[in-house]
Amino acid sequence: MKRIAVVGSTGSIGTQTLDIIATYPDRFTATVLTAGSNVELLVSQSLRFRPALAVIADESAYGRLRDALEPHGIAAACGASAIAAAMERDDVDMVVTATVGYSGLEPTIRAIRANKDIALANKETLVVAGELVTDLLSRSSSKVYPVDSEHSAIYQCLMGEDPATVERLIITASGGPFLRLDAESLAGVTAEQALRHPNWEMGAKITIDSATMLNKAFEIIEARWLFGIAPERITALVHPQSIVHSMVEFRDGAIKAQLGTPDMHLPILLALGEGSRLCSTRPALTPARMAQLTFEEPDTRRFPCLTLAYEALKAGGNTACVINAANEVANAAFRHGEIRFPDIYTIITDTVAKATRIDRPAYADYVASNAEAREIASRLVSENSKIYTL
Ligand code: NDP
Ligand code: MG
Repeated sequence: MKRIAVVGSTGSIGTQTLDIIATYPDRFTATVLTAGSNVELLVSQSLRFRPALAVIADESAYGRLRDALEPHGIAAACGASAIAAAMERDDVDMVVTATVGYSGLEPTIRAIRANKDIALANKETLVVAGELVTDLLSRSSSKVYPVDSEHSAIYQCLMGEDPATVERLIITASGGPFLRLDAESLAGVTAEQALRHPNWEMGAKITIDSATMLNKAFEIIEARWLFGIAPERITALVHPQSIVHSMVEFRDGAIKAQLGTPDMHLPILLALGEGSRLCSTRPALTPARMAQLTFEEPDTRRFPCLTLAYEALKAGGNTACVINAANEVANAAFRHGEIRFPDIYTIITDTVAKATRIDRPAYADYVASNAEAREIASRLVSENSKIYTL
C-alpha cells in the first residue's frame, strides 16, 4: 500500500490522481490532501478519501476546513508552511506535486530532503530551481517519476536504454488553440479563446502557457534537468493530434516514440506505480486515431516564448526563475483582461532585463528573485498602460 500526499488535490491533475487512487484501493491510499483556496472541494475529497491531514493554503478558509473535518477525525491545517511540513510525515511514501506555479517549489524540496518519492507534475519547480533540485536529489534517496505527458513518454522511451546512446529528445507540442492564427490576429485573441485547448483539459494557467507555447519552453527546461541532457539536444516539434507524446532519437538513428490518447491518467498511473505498468480502466488508443499523425516545425516568430527555454538555460543562474515569476503575473493579467496576448512575452523579457542577476542562487535567492520579479512584472502590467494598451 503506497501512502500518497496529493499537493493540489483540487486541481486538474489532483482530481485525476484521486480518481486513480479510488480505482486501485489495494495499492494506493491518500494520507495528505492540500489545496489553495477551494475549501468545499477539499472537504468533500477528505470525507471521501479519509486522509490523516488536509491542508488549505488560504488561511481565511481554515475555520471551515477544521469545523468540517475534525468531527470525522481528520486533522486540518493551513498556510504554505503547513503544506511544506506535511511532506515530511511518516505516513507519506510518495508526493504528487499537482500544485500550480512557484507554490510547488518548497513542498518538493521538503519532500526530497525527507527522502520521499515524487510524482512530478509541477514543472515550475524544475524551471525555477532545476539546478538546486537536481543537486538535492543527488544527495537524497528520493526518486522522481515524471507526470508531464511528454516527460513520461521520454521516460518510457528510455526504459532499458543506455543514456549515453541518446542523440536527441524530441518533445511534441500540440501548438495550442492558435496554431494557425497569423501574428496580427494573435494580438486580438481573448482569454476565453485561449482557454479552449483543442486536445487537453487542464487548469487555466497551463492552458494559457500552452497557447503562448511557454509551456513547451518550460518542458524543454524540465527535460534538461530530469534527464540530464544538454539543451542543444532537446527540440520541440509541433504535432497537432497529441497522440505521439514525445520521442527519443538514438545514435544509431533509431527513434522511439510513445503513443497514447491525450489523457493524463496514463502518465499519472505510471508515476504512481514507479514505472511499473498497471491495468488501465481507460479507453485504449484506436487505430482510427492514429490514421493521420502530422509533424511540423514550431514558428518561433509567432510564438517567441518558445525561445525563452534556450535563453534561460544559456544564461543560467536565476534567469528561469525570473521568467517563471514574470509569466505567473502576465498569465494571470491576460486571463483577467488586463493585457493583450503578445504582451505576455514582452512583460517576461522586460522583467528579465530589469531583475537582479544572481549567478549561483541558493534557496533564499530563489525566494527573493521570485518576489522581485513578481513585483517588477506587476508594475509593468499596472503602470505601463501606455506600452501595454488593450
Ligand atoms: P490547477 O490549476 O487545475 O490546480 C492547481 C492545484 O494547486 C489546485 O489544487 C489549487 O487549489 C492548488 N493551488 C493553487 N495555488 C496554490 C497555492 N498558492 N498554494 C497551494 N496550493 C495551490 O492546475 P493543473 O492541475 O492543471 O496543473 C498542476 C501542475 O501540473 C502545474 O504545474 C502544471 O504545469 C502541471 N501539469 C498539468 C497538466 C494537466 O493536464 N493539467 C499536464 C502536465 C503538467 P485550489 O483548487 O484551491 O485553487
Ligand atoms: Mg506536457
